[in-house]
Amino acid sequence: VSDGRAGPRAWVEIPPDSPFPIHNLPFGVGRRPDGTVGAFVAVGDHALDVDRGRSLLTGTAGEDGLLDATQKLNSFAAQGRRAHRAVRDRVGEVLTDPSRRDEVLPFLVPIEELTMTVPVTVGDYVDFYSSLHHATNLGRLFRPGGEPLLPNWRHLPVGYHGRSGTIVGDRSTIARPRGIRSVSGSPAAGPTTQLDIESEVGFVVGSGSIHGQRVPCAEAERHLFGVCLVNDWSARDIQAFEYQPLGPFLGKSFATSMSPWIVTLDALDPFRIAPPIQEPPVADYLTTTGPTGFDLHLEVFLQSASMRERGLDPILISAAGFADMYWTPAQQIAHMTVNGAHLRPGDLFASGTVSGPTPGSEGSLIELTSRGERPISLPDGSTRAFLDDGDTVVLRGWAGSDPADRIGLGSVSGTIGGSPDTGGLDTAPHDTAHHDTAHHHGRER
Ligand code: CA
Repeated sequence: VSDGRAGPRAWVEIPPDSPFPIHNLPFGVGRRPDGTVGAFVAVGDHALDVDRGRSLLTGTAGEDGLLDATQKLNSFAAQGRRAHRAVRDRVGEVLTDPSRRDEVLPFLVPIEELTMTVPVTVGDYVDFYSSLHHATNLGRLFRPGGEPLLPNWRHLPVGYHGRSGTIVGDRSTIARPRGIRSVSGSPAAGPTTQLDIESEVGFVVGSGSIHGQRVPCAEAERHLFGVCLVNDWSARDIQAFEYQPLGPFLGKSFATSMSPWIVTLDALDPFRIAPPIQEPPVADYLTTTGPTGFDLHLEVFLQSASMRERGLDPILISAAGFADMYWTPAQQIAHMTVNGAHLRPGDLFASGTVSGPTPGSEGSLIELTSRGERPISLPDGSTRAFLDDGDTVVLRGWAGSDPADRIGLGSVSGTIGGSPDTGGLDTAPHDTAHHDTAHHHGRER
């Protein structure tokens, strides 16, 4: 019932370790047991059905329902932060006013009864590369002996356009992707043998901006609907062979997982912090003042199929802080729009892998295992350099260092499926000398 902060208490019971205390109230889209879809606000182990319960939201943007014709939150996101705040404030009021209890209870459902979906139709998806530690670690692994950071890295938030159509929700099965990778020094097609994760924070765009007009840093956060978790699944062997000179492509575009609950910036306001000092100084359009960073914390858990069969819990393989991310979401928005490209409601951009400076704080397996040189031991006796079929990866995140005062971002999981048989792919292209590739696959898998 209580959480760590002052203010009215909810009359609905909220477990003390819940990611969704009364001060959070994130938005999501869930499928009800009857198969219909609704917009929900999470509170403790429950979710308030704010579509069927729209009578509770009169006088706010929610009185006509939060979902658009696509049954996503895009049109609500588009209405901007004032509208989001009014709905969230109202939900907070009805959940803390005991006299509203009988009116609200019919719309309060156990979260576990819902199947959460991707909350927005993602238009454009951009993935940044904003962790100094991650960029340094990966630079060392991909370009050994060279300067780990490329010359542009401290001057702009490096990023690439990802594939929005393959953004998937919580508890998805991730098919092992195929592509061209180097096998014993020769290019060959087949399933990746270096399937990896990237633990990231995602930012969902609320109100859009105008094509041709840049969004300054100082106005950037007005365009944010909220924050989620992102797992940027990555096939390292495919990525390594294809990425130069135009950047990530098929090694990243097969699937990206997004957590179901969008936590608003209002909820994260108490967890603002000053970002790291940038040296050398950045361009004027990237200059920010004030606390534009966020004190977020991320964890990654791994569970093999045999661990699951034996009832063994997922193990923690990474814990990292977001506070020292070099580039902030405000700077990322300013950079994405400096050329006149605009933001649209429901666009998603992600931080890039969140890695810390110490062992065990790296947000990807390629870093955690030094590209397989230091495999992770699992309680079922097996080891992992990269992911096996049947492995489940769970990302979890929250804001705040005091456990009594946390705001959760929730979690997102995905399980590796096999590689669907797409006949004829497992041959080396235009090179009959490598007719033994299928044998290589068998050995490498
Ligand atoms: Ca990434």
